Amino acid sequence: MTEPGPRAATTARGPFHVLAKPTGPICNLDCEYCFFLAKEALYPGDRFRMSDALLDTYLRQLFEAHDGATEVTVAWQGGEPTLMGVGFFRRVVERVEQYRRPGQQVHHTIQTNATLLTDAWCELLAEHDFLVGVSVDGPPELHDRYRHDKRGGPTSAHVLRGLRLLQRHEVEHNILCTVHAANQGRPLEVYRYFRDELGARFVQFIPIVERLDRDGGGAPGAGEGAAGVTDRTVEPEAWGRFLSTVFDEWVRRDVGTVFVTQFEAALAAWAGLPASLCVFAETCGRAVAVGHNGDVYSCDHFVDPEHLLGNLATEHLARLVESPRQVAFGQAKRDTLPRFCRECPVRFACQGECPKNRFVATPEGDPGLNHLCAGYRSYFAHVDGPMRLLVDLLRQGRHADEVMGVLAGARRNDPCPCGSGRKAKACHQRPLPDTDLPSGAACDAC
Ligand code: SF4
Ligand code: SF4
Repeated sequence: MTEPGPRAATTARGPFHVLAKPTGPICNLDCEYCFFLAKEALYPGDRFRMSDALLDTYLRQLFEAHDGATEVTVAWQGGEPTLMGVGFFRRVVERVEQYRRPGQQVHHTIQTNATLLTDAWCELLAEHDFLVGVSVDGPPELHDRYRHDKRGGPTSAHVLRGLRLLQRHEVEHNILCTVHAANQGRPLEVYRYFRDELGARFVQFIPIVERLDRDGGGAPGAGEGAAGVTDRTVEPEAWGRFLSTVFDEWVRRDVGTVFVTQFEAALAAWAGLPASLCVFAETCGRAVAVGHNGDVYSCDHFVDPEHLLGNLATEHLARLVESPRQVAFGQAKRDTLPRFCRECPVRFACQGECPKNRFVATPEGDPGLNHLCAGYRSYFAHVDGPMRLLVDLLRQGRHADEVMGVLAGARRNDPCPCGSGRKAKACHQRPLPDTDLPSGAACDAC
């Protein structure tokens, strides 16, 4: 057997992810908390449209960088990527076919507000098996609180029209729900709406954390909340309660039918598998952002001059991803963890979450603790018992959804199988609540 030769300088050392933004920060909506709208100031006077020449350069480099990889994801985000028009994405698919290596599996993804989708769009998305992420923040009353059009009007009706169109064309999609001050107290209402009204099978919750100093207060209208964050920002404890409440419903009736990204990530952590979300990984730096003009940034959350790695016109994508600067960026996630995190019992699952949210002091006064820490501590502690049960089942070669039967099957006065020490009837056999508890109230199981 011969030793493999040196890899070409245009091939990355391992898989990585790119979020490409063909319209830069430009969007047809004006969501109050969108951190990307303010990025327009980085490129004054720009048209914010990826040219066909750059599209060609980008995709060629992406596939060169993944030479030898069995799978490649081609991901589009914004701003609003559908503003490029369906013709641009037809060219995307053509170029991908031109550059993909024989036998390589390609995953197309696009994240959209869904308001501009048409039959023509959905035909393309269905034909090429795109996974479409649609931003919805809950029932219309909650969704429309911060997600406005350019005139300040509501957007939920337009989003739902687009979502129904995707469903009619059987396009695979997931729901991306930001959690913020307006919906943080309504986890059951939000989750049940997705599951029962929208028929969602894949849901990801994303906490809104807007710093007044770093984000400039976000878009106009941001008032000042606690700890230097806007008043739209999710409260740490509320974030933990939100996840724990949804988890309690999910683990008792939806395992195997609804997939919640945070719960899948937690299960990976309890099973000792690699993190499925960068925010819960020990190190990061393998997910760069490519702008409309080919500028490459360390991460979608660090699109600023300090984290500009270079431009695809002059430097190859693989070299930028493997550059010492980018490696240092990714390792800093681990190396800058305060002692409070290093000694935390749920560090293995949390890993201090995303560095962008690490701007508060620990109880000892060390800098660099995550704003959401209190929520993560309570959420990960809350799911510990059921996660152990799930892992046990999987290690026995059984299916994850059997956990629902195990929890329901105990005698009511016996200890709950989750290991909490409480009787089953007072733990995972308590009737599920009909509605959310009043805002700020903690359920006694949390
Ligand atoms: S900075 Fe945050 S969002 Fe970006 S790659 Fe690291 S963990 Fe992920
Ligand atoms: S829960 Fe808090 S202390 Fe523990 S790792 Fe996460 S951010 Fe750090």
